[in-house]
Amino acid sequence: MPTPQPIPVETAGGIYLPGADLWLDPHRKQDFAFVSHAHADHFARHATILCSPNTAALIRARYGGAREYIELDFGEGLEREGHRIELVPAGHTLGSAMIHITRQTDGASLLYTGDFKTRPGLSAEPPGLKGADTLIMETTFGLPKYIFPPAEEVRAATLRFCREALAAGAVPVLLGYSFGKAQEIMAMLAGGGLEVSVHDKVAELLPVYRAAGVEFPEHRPIDPASIAGKVLVMPPGARRPPAPEGSAGFRVAMFSGWGIDPSARYRYRCDEVFPLSDHADYRDSLRFVDDVSPRRVLTTHGYAAEFAADLRHRGYEAWSLRGDDQLEFGGDGFGRGGVEIEP
Ligand SMILES: [Zn+2]
Repeated sequence: MPTPQPIPVETAGGIYLPGADLWLDPHRKQDFAFVSHAHADHFARHATILCSPNTAALIRARYGGAREYIELDFGEGLEREGHRIELVPAGHTLGSAMIHITRQTDGASLLYTGDFKTRPGLSAEPPGLKGADTLIMETTFGLPKYIFPPAEEVRAATLRFCREALAAGAVPVLLGYSFGKAQEIMAMLAGGGLEVSVHDKVAELLPVYRAAGVEFPEHRPIDPASIAGKVLVMPPGARRPPAPEGSAGFRVAMFSGWGIDPSARYRYRCDEVFPLSDHADYRDSLRFVDDVSPRRVLTTHGYAAEFAADLRHRGYEAWSLRGDDQLEFGGDGFGRGGVEIEP
């Protein structure tokens, strides 16, 4: 049987598959689009959204609004324009999905990762995998220096940070984005014997997580009158209550893959940056490509050109979707080099 032609991919105004008439995480409103997960940089107010049921629940909770959803369970099939569509857990946040597409005439296939992580977390569905001829992947941490420590090490360091702060009479503050990272931090605190207070922006999504079976420690809303002795979990931009009188102030930790960079502490203006990410690190990304075993790789986000060049050295046909493989970062809305918009 001859090798099928790859599934065509267009990149003007976002990633679009003309054969299946399908937009993938477009920034601009469309009649019909796949939304890989509920982070703001992957969502727009499309008329009809194809996504996992948990992502639909999170979009409703985060953004409200009336729209149509086609909720596809992981592993369940959907036909569209002569293509079979299936969602695969992406391991990035609760509900996050990769989309796998097979052209029915000749079996050509494509996997789009959205944001993804290959190590299981505490607050997302365990990541899956499906082979494809074309792989479109995010490469936020696509440089060799981004190798993340085991999550259990980060958890132990976090509990130590909190206990030491409390012992010194300070209030530990753990900062994570209100959707995804903050819930992962909370899940990490389970069983740690700490009193936890949670910002409203984080708390409002917890019912969706609980319905999905994620377990959290006992917690209360943040009450400015009684934060002494508590661990606060908050989004980075939220206003902190005044430090309790007579206390040693706050000790603040951020959670981000950029914590690998020694300067991250200064950039985030906090005492500690724990390298806890909801993305694949460099080594996991390489292994992922080998496992998908594609004939062609297209990279997007972060170090897209660098990671594509790296893959070419390893014998893959690989290109950045920005088409800037000879240049540094472009500014066309795909690249997020060095800046974490939402994790
Ligand atoms: Zn994301």
